[in-house]
Amino acid sequence: MEPNVPRTASIALNRPLRRLFDYRVPEGMNITLGQRVTIPFGRSRMTGIVAALDQPPPEGIQLKTVEDCCEEWPALPPETFRLLNWASDYYQHALGECLFTALPPALRRGQPARERTEIYWKTISDEAVLPANAKKQKALFDWLKQYPEGVATKQILLAGYSNAQIKSLSEKNLIAATNAPKSHNPSVSPSQRPQLSAEQQVAAEQLATPDQAFSVSLLYGITGSGKTELYLDYLKRHLSAHDQALVLVPEINLTPQTLARFERYFGPRVAVWHSALNDGQKLNAWLKVRNGEPVILIGTRSAVLLPFTNLKTIVVDEEHDSSYKQGDGFRYSARDTAVYRGFIERCPVILGSATPSLESLHNARSGKYQLVRLEHRAGDSKPPEIKLLDIRSRPLEAGFSRPALDAIQRTLDCGQQALVYVNRRGFAPVMMCFDCGHMVECPRCDTRLTYHRRDRAMRCHHCDFQMAAMETCPKCESEAFKPVGQGTERAEDFLAEHFPETPIIRVDRDSTQRKGSIQSIIEKVRTGKPCILVGTQMLAKGHDFPGVTLVVVINADGGLFSVDFRAPEHLVQTLIQVSGRAGRGAQAGQVLVQTCHSDHPLLKTLGAGNYLSISDQLLAERKENHLPPFRAMATFRAESRTMEDSLRLLDSIKSFIQSSKGSQIETWGPLPAVLARRADKHCAQLVLLSTQRRQLNNVIADSCQKMDETKLPSGAKWIIDVDPRETG
Ligand code: ADP
Ligand code: ZN
Ligand code: ZN
Repeated sequence: MEPNVPRTASIALNRPLRRLFDYRVPEGMNITLGQRVTIPFGRSRMTGIVAALDQPPPEGIQLKTVEDCCEEWPALPPETFRLLNWASDYYQHALGECLFTALPPALRRGQPARERTEIYWKTISDEAVLPANAKKQKALFDWLKQYPEGVATKQILLAGYSNAQIKSLSEKNLIAATNAPKSHNPSVSPSQRPQLSAEQQVAAEQLATPDQAFSVSLLYGITGSGKTELYLDYLKRHLSAHDQALVLVPEINLTPQTLARFERYFGPRVAVWHSALNDGQKLNAWLKVRNGEPVILIGTRSAVLLPFTNLKTIVVDEEHDSSYKQGDGFRYSARDTAVYRGFIERCPVILGSATPSLESLHNARSGKYQLVRLEHRAGDSKPPEIKLLDIRSRPLEAGFSRPALDAIQRTLDCGQQALVYVNRRGFAPVMMCFDCGHMVECPRCDTRLTYHRRDRAMRCHHCDFQMAAMETCPKCESEAFKPVGQGTERAEDFLAEHFPETPIIRVDRDSTQRKGSIQSIIEKVRTGKPCILVGTQMLAKGHDFPGVTLVVVINADGGLFSVDFRAPEHLVQTLIQVSGRAGRGAQAGQVLVQTCHSDHPLLKTLGAGNYLSISDQLLAERKENHLPPFRAMATFRAESRTMEDSLRLLDSIKSFIQSSKGSQIETWGPLPAVLARRADKHCAQLVLLSTQRRQLNNVIADSCQKMDETKLPSGAKWIIDVDPRETG
């Protein structure tokens, strides 16, 4: 750069705009990529991130000047900045929103990047002699006296005291501000760690060592085989005292038990990142990572975007889990982003699962990833036996067959626990009139309302519509108006009637809305007393219930005949994961899967119980049908006030794609989505497939640019989803 040419900076804003804004950099201001700056924007000021430097400015435009740097250093260091640029391009999402996703909320809003210390208060006098009318102050003093390490201001306020009372006591020198007490993270002595089994030892040696090289290992380990133990062992052996590591977990698996397990090995260097942290906690965790502190960060999806500066190992636990793919806005997959991050950081990536995604398995089968296996359970426990129960000609009571009920009874008689998996929450998926056949539908979606008996409500699970439940048919007023099908509430009611002596514990989104409730449920179950757990997918995920020896799957048939090509994979994964909850303790487990299709090849292989052979079979089908992972896929989705508008919008994208030169892209559709009307919007989709990912990416980029310049009908919207999780 010649000294006299004024510098320019292209600034990204936290907006869904696929463009940057150019500004002049004032003389003497040091500015780098990834740095936060304040800029004048319209009539206000905004926080932006420097996304490019010294681009030729558009002609004839008087550039405004960058006002200030928020800090001297780039909030997004080079590797992180590069990762986010890659993700913006790969997922074709506005760069500004991608960059801002890597900042904690406080920094997005332009607040200073300074650690937030919480002020604690403790008593500094033995006795408080206070005027008789200062009752509340006296109470506060006595209360604080019980906590010699101090109590956070926030906690004091929550307990019903006021800032004024704190101030008076402090002015009287009765209490004083103090730092937060150090948390106790006792490290276990080495002898308390289990000795790796022979199989685990072999797997541990197969995992690549972090010697400045990128590698991906797929750790296929059946449930309870000790994958987590292996991550711990790996980090213990390979991570130096200065290194950073990232362990990604699905939201629901980030339980105090998981955390405690890491803390026992690694003490205070363990840090967490998840959606329930408050803004101050997020800022503090972010700063630790950005400052290069040697954290072992256990985090959910967005942790993969944090500004690590010395990252030496990445672990993705339960790599098949759907929560790794963001469902709206910046639709990135944290697993795939983790793999790219490993490439950038030149460090090993370990993907672990009992039911790996077909994508990862394909990469392992084709030699891109190394496959490491753990095929035996750790300790004494045995993998459960899976049995199909054909229910075609059996009478059912609230969805339960006789043999299933008998098995539950036997389990309880032996003092053990049973788990019942129902794939739908609520009481029943449909209310139907047995006289006129009427079923109650959502007025805003093409779907039926689910009956929630606890709340006497009918709810749509696709939009937020709900109404009071009715007693009679709204159409013909018949009283033969009844719930049809099974939900968790109905199973719970039936089991409570059938096993009146036994506690029934329901686990689904409705029963676990309160913070910490899933935690107290887990603890209750872990006491080991006989009980029946009833729940949805939530129960299939990663929790360790050693007392459960029987799993009953009420109905396995949902995923067998779906239009979504991923449905069979998801069905098998869920069934194996839920089965994995059985027999984790000393007792062997059993799984009963009720189905009307016991001769379906997929279920038959499942009975044989080997995920790798089922998934190889599924992969062969994908290959035959030229589906992912054998071709790259992306979906344009449109929604608007009429189906016609949505289809027309997608048609214009399709013609644009077909007119692109040399384009070898197959298109499906546009077609109305399976749920064509959702919250009063008409949804359609256009699926793109290609063996050339690079080319597909270019075509999508051009299409997005074209669409950005196109005026849409009012109320219309479109999005692009690269590597979509679902089609249909
Ligand atoms: P996964 O993550 O594969 O489900 P975990 O690492 O949670 O498996 O291990 C399952 C259970 O087995 C845990 O209770 C764990 O403490 C125990 N375990 C794992 N490895 C060993 C070992 N080598 N010796 C004894 N117990 C082990
Ligand atoms: Zn009717
Ligand atoms: Zn609805």
